[in-house]
Amino acid sequence: MGVSRRDFLGMVGLAGGSAAVFQMMTVMGLAAPSTYKQPQLGTGGKGKKVLILGGGLAGMVSAYELNKAGYEVEILEFNDRAGGRVWTIRGGDKYTELGGFEQTCQFDKGLYINPGPWRIPHVHQAYQHYAREFGVKLEVFPMINHNAYVHRKSGVKERQGKLMIDMQGHVSELLAKALSQNALQGEMTGEDKTKVLEALKGWGFLDKDYRYSKSLATSSYRGYDRDPGARLEPGTPSTPLSLDTIVKNDLWADLNTGLAYEFHSTIFEPVGGIDAMARAFEARTRQFIKYRSKVTDIKQDEGGVTATYEDLTTGTTKTARGDYCICTIPLSILSQIPSTGLSPKLTDAIKKVPYGPSFKAGMQYKRRFWEQDEAIYGGVTYTDQSMGLMSYPANNYNSNGKGVVLGAYMFGPDAVKFTGMNPKDRLQEVLKQNIAIHPQAEKEFDNGISVGWHRVPFTLGCYGLYNEETRKDIYPTLCALDKRFILAGEHTSYWNAWQEGALLAGTSAVEIIHEAASKA
Ligand SMILES: Cc1cc2nc3c(=O)[nH]c(=O)nc-3n(C[C@H](O)[C@H](O)[C@H](O)COP(=O)(O)OP(=O)(O)OC[C@H]3O[C@@H](n4cnc5c(N)ncnc54)[C@H](O)[C@@H]3O)c2cc1C
Repeated sequence: MGVSRRDFLGMVGLAGGSAAVFQMMTVMGLAAPSTYKQPQLGTGGKGKKVLILGGGLAGMVSAYELNKAGYEVEILEFNDRAGGRVWTIRGGDKYTELGGFEQTCQFDKGLYINPGPWRIPHVHQAYQHYAREFGVKLEVFPMINHNAYVHRKSGVKERQGKLMIDMQGHVSELLAKALSQNALQGEMTGEDKTKVLEALKGWGFLDKDYRYSKSLATSSYRGYDRDPGARLEPGTPSTPLSLDTIVKNDLWADLNTGLAYEFHSTIFEPVGGIDAMARAFEARTRQFIKYRSKVTDIKQDEGGVTATYEDLTTGTTKTARGDYCICTIPLSILSQIPSTGLSPKLTDAIKKVPYGPSFKAGMQYKRRFWEQDEAIYGGVTYTDQSMGLMSYPANNYNSNGKGVVLGAYMFGPDAVKFTGMNPKDRLQEVLKQNIAIHPQAEKEFDNGISVGWHRVPFTLGCYGLYNEETRKDIYPTLCALDKRFILAGEHTSYWNAWQEGALLAGTSAVEIIHEAASKA
């Protein structure tokens, strides 16, 4: 009563997990089909050229699809590699951030960190399409790991599985109590009440008196203090966390993260590093890319679009021209590039989208103590420390030798704070906070590398940040064709901060350009 569908699904999720939410969404008709459709341009592009600014996924998918339709394409890309934010750092890689701090990655051979994207939802159909087309191998990323922790500065640390069971048990006990005392009279008939009480008993692990309590039965869900064994060892029951501890420490709050639509099982990551998709596109579009080409000016006239760029290899200034232009440069940078011939409305809108701050650190440890000592295989531990979260490698389980974890990942003011430190201080702070969760980290730390996204020269931020007002007022302008010029990139999608957004934006830009070119 008076509960929105979103809130209702949130409650279902909290109590029943992502499978329950998905089932409920399907029942409610909310499990939506994909908005991706492969561009069907035919062969009408011959004799026309499209200039593409930026060689991230949005730029490369545009070039790939346009080229198939016969268009001439050219990509101007700032870096000496394609992929933009789709970036993997490996041992030996050097990274110089805005402001001049240079870091050289010291990871061992075969180890890496993905400083930007790292997870691929199965609901991202454009990504899955190109993964199939290019043979990009995916492995499962366990977004929800019952054995990873929820940690609080107060000192509370609990395995997520135990916490989920305890929350479900306590909520069920409370509801059973309310029902038994007729507190919900009028909401339910007598028959419904009996059925719901029976359901709560099973679903909430309640005993015959409808209590959630310490027992071997409860432990068969939340785990034991000592596991069952052979012969006369039935196991030692574990003690549930009290509801008071759960709510006082907001422990439940981090359980919801894994229930978000895009995190529903199955989540993937490309084998060997997130850049596998970028490399697959690059292999198919390399011939069109001018690397180390920094766009410094954009001019649109009646016949086309001209970009002036600095050739960073030779230090010379050059121009490139197309009959049409797809610009995928992040708005944080594009807003600083002079332009003429774009509509004043678009020029104004480009300046109005702030970029979200984010920070990540990759930490190499001398042994995989999270597996060997704590049986954590992949997944994410959440904490209320400023490091945000910790994520364990979802590959090479039980391998001997070193391992790299995502030692910190956060957004907002904490990200700004970490980015403001020098790389050495950042790692020290991340290590201190990692130790609070895993004391072994102190002895096992080897080396690390960090990326503060506001200091990444080719993005100056993590992703385009909209609110209700900017979505309504300026977003439609950013999405529209401006004579011969159109924007693409995650910022022209509703999948902000996802590769899916870049792919959908690129493929839809291609269709819009093709329609305009076909009419001209
Ligand atoms: C911290 C973080 C976490 C993320 N997590 C995920 C995730 O888990 N899963 C997921 O799918 N996505 C994730 N994303 C989002 C994903 O990385 C982006 O949505 C996607 O890569 C954007 O692609 P794009 O082509 O729109 O932009 P970009 O990749 O930014 O491409 C733009 C290109 O323009 C180039 N450029 C910039 N300035 C100029 C210039 N002056 N001249 C010429 N070229 C220029 C850049 O070098 C770059 O190659 C994450 C991103 C970040 C930063």
